[in-house]
Amino acid sequence: MGLGASRKTALVTGAAGFLGSHLVDRLLAEGFEVVGIDNLMTGDLGNLEKAGRDRHFHFQMGDVREPIHVYAELVFNFACPASPVHYQSDPHATLTTSVLGAQRLVEMARGRRCAIVHASTSEVYGDPTVHPQPESYWGNVNPIGERACYDEGKRCAETLLNDARRAWGVDVRIARIFNTYGPRMAFDDGRVVSNFVVQALRGKPLTLFGDGQQTRSFCYVDDLVEGIVRMSRLERLDGPVNLGNPEEFTIRQLAEEVVKQIGGDLAIQHAPLPSDDPRQRKPDIGRARELLGFSPRVRLAEGLGATIEDFRRRLSERDGRG
Ligand code: NAD
Ligand code: UDP
Repeated sequence: MGLGASRKTALVTGAAGFLGSHLVDRLLAEGFEVVGIDNLMTGDLGNLEKAGRDRHFHFQMGDVREPIHVYAELVFNFACPASPVHYQSDPHATLTTSVLGAQRLVEMARGRRCAIVHASTSEVYGDPTVHPQPESYWGNVNPIGERACYDEGKRCAETLLNDARRAWGVDVRIARIFNTYGPRMAFDDGRVVSNFVVQALRGKPLTLFGDGQQTRSFCYVDDLVEGIVRMSRLERLDGPVNLGNPEEFTIRQLAEEVVKQIGGDLAIQHAPLPSDDPRQRKPDIGRARELLGFSPRVRLAEGLGATIEDFRRRLSERDGRG
């Protein structure tokens, strides 16, 4: 196929990150011309090694808070630090990336045939008082807490994008993504799956925050990417859609499963629960099932197996180099 001739162009912001890079690979496999933008705040160009060998992939080092000059029919907005450790390390960058990033994309898409698929989050529900969480739930977020830069930034981005749809007809599609894990998560990411896997592979105790009875529902990255791609294919999509795996686990159960798969005894290093840490989280995916035929296939034990293999390989490559 000639360069750009009959290919649609997709822009992925946050392309060097965990989810962004998997999405880039999927879009290239689907025959898109793909432009990736990233400022490498938490991303790693190593995640784009495969994409970088494809002549249909084009990387731009850049910040979504600056004007974006890319022609694309489809935009996937994945730029934003996502782990509490990272997004709290520079709260101002986190909030402005969410809000100004959405604004820059609206400026780019307004008046054009360009759809924006936006990575929002289950954090818009905060510490939920409704369980499981449907899209109709408005959430329980502390607007001045340590997580607010992320939660409120994502909530405000949703507001900005929805207003752009109402006012100017911009085609926006909002995915509320629940905890997603898999290969390519950064070693120092700070999220629970990567922390536990690295700690167990290193023979160290697992850092369990609080009593470990808080819950999360973990979605494997391939299932999530499938849901995102399906969202982009619809002729039209109004209103946010939850994407995640509704199987719910306590964090203690996750620790036990990781140790079971890697081997050794379960050693725990207890630490206090961080402030505003949600007690429970599980998506109601009725809307995604109905509109997208979305049905996560990979169960935690299987997805953890693939994730552990990836971490084992990357850690041994890194240790070999060091
Ligand atoms: P990640 O940290 O691996 O990826 C984020 C990427 O965005 C990184 O490559 C980072 O360098 C880049 N970035 C940050 N600020 C930027 C800026 N101002 N300009 C350009 N690039 C910038 O995290 P992830 O898990 O891949 O998350 C990707 C998106 O999905 C985020 O928007 C996140 O909020 C959302 N999300 C992820 C999850 C999850 O469980 N992984 C859950 C809910 C929502
Ligand atoms: N957590 C933990 N140990 C860690 C990292 C996280 O016990 O080393 C807990 C954390 O307190 C939270 C859950 O695991 O209750 C999920 O944390 P993560 O940062 O992965 O995601 P989020 O809180 O944003 O859902």
